[in-house]
Amino acid sequence: MTFEDLKLTRQFLNAIEDWGFEQPTEIQIKAIPPIRSGQDLIGIAQTGTGKTAAFLLPILHLLKYAQGTQPRCLILVPTKELVMQIVSHAEHLSKYTDLRVIGLYGGIGPKAQAQEMEKGKDIIVATPGRFMEIYFKGVIDCKKIKHLVLDEADRMMDMGFMHQLRKIFEIIPNKRQNLLFSATFPERVEHLAEEFLLWPTRVEVSPQATPVETVEQFLYRVPNFRTKIDLLVHLLETDESMERVIVFTRTKDYAENISKYLDRKELGEVRVIHSNKGQNSRINAMADFRAGDVRILVSTDVSARGIDIPEVSHVINFSIPRDSFDYVHRIGRTGRAFRAGTAISFADHTESYYIRKIEDVTKQLIPVLELPESLFIHPTPKSEKQDQAREIDKQKHREDPNYKGAFHEKKYKLKGEKKVSRSTSNRKQNK
Ligand code: ADP
Ligand code: MG
Repeated sequence: MTFEDLKLTRQFLNAIEDWGFEQPTEIQIKAIPPIRSGQDLIGIAQTGTGKTAAFLLPILHLLKYAQGTQPRCLILVPTKELVMQIVSHAEHLSKYTDLRVIGLYGGIGPKAQAQEMEKGKDIIVATPGRFMEIYFKGVIDCKKIKHLVLDEADRMMDMGFMHQLRKIFEIIPNKRQNLLFSATFPERVEHLAEEFLLWPTRVEVSPQATPVETVEQFLYRVPNFRTKIDLLVHLLETDESMERVIVFTRTKDYAENISKYLDRKELGEVRVIHSNKGQNSRINAMADFRAGDVRILVSTDVSARGIDIPEVSHVINFSIPRDSFDYVHRIGRTGRAFRAGTAISFADHTESYYIRKIEDVTKQLIPVLELPESLFIHPTPKSEKQDQAREIDKQKHREDPNYKGAFHEKKYKLKGEKKVSRSTSNRKQNK
């Protein structure tokens, strides 16, 4: 199957060729014809399978050329990084047309985007919040919107965009083509689909949430943060195949501290992205990483959702994501379209719980590797032990909502509050 077989017109075939795509991916083969024929469609395919071009190509095709000033297509995505990525994709693919694309996203003032909008655009790519903000400035005329795309629908549901999406559905014409793309299809996405798609065609290219087959996965069991850091340094020092590594951490503080530490160890260029970093710093970090000038990118997983990072050799989960679907997304950063990669996870004993959930979702067991012999196993500091005990309590509570917890809650009373030891009575109850 070639792009020619998909009957795209010359200007798109040329753009595709310039970009170096040789053949369409499976989701592209399956989604392009029905979208071109105007159908509503749900597309489910793992991260890195080429979903963006799967909806952009047929839409660009339907829009053909610039027309008037009112936008005709609205693409909604969860993060600003994703907006920028899709805009860039659209610019590549439409380079031999005069179609006009704009990205609307937060983190910078709305004024410039509103002014740009007034010049007339054919396609808007936006986060829901910023779209509404600009809409209320009165510079978006929605009457001509004929195509709506929700990309990374699972992420949008996770991030609580439902309310904003409903508002947007109200202000755009009812008569339109609706497309929904997602890496996974959990129940909340199904509800969203039921709410806004009309007799959709459903195309799915691989079983739900199965990690890309080209990704090798491994797990190290590591007792604490300090030992995790040493293991990370050890791997970066000894494994030369780690050419371009992305390290995912749970919190901004972890991301910041780990990146500083790695920087001091001189293991190659390091950048960090998290939500406290300014917009420019994040864009620059991503650009440097993408250009291959940076070996290590440390990121919180929220900042990295849906970003297209080509040719990542390794993903390291410094902490295990609480949401199994995040794991699938994270490891999807390696093994992007037609490339192989490795995903390595570090789990302390409290994180085994999340590993089990991931293994349930992916229906694969992650092979466990022995810790390197030379690695010093630090004792777990008291404060970390307490955090771990609290985490275990939380997990037990989640499994059994009647579970009250054996951990001394009095330690977490605010100053000035009366200290009451609930733990003694709880323990009695649990016996
Ligand atoms: P998804 O949205 O499914 O996660 P993307 O659309 O971001 O995936 O595409 C992932 C990567 O694959 C991008 O770098 C993109 O340029 C590349 N890609 C997409 N389609 C093709 C193709 N037909 N041939 C080669 N590379 C492709
Ligand atoms: Mg995508």
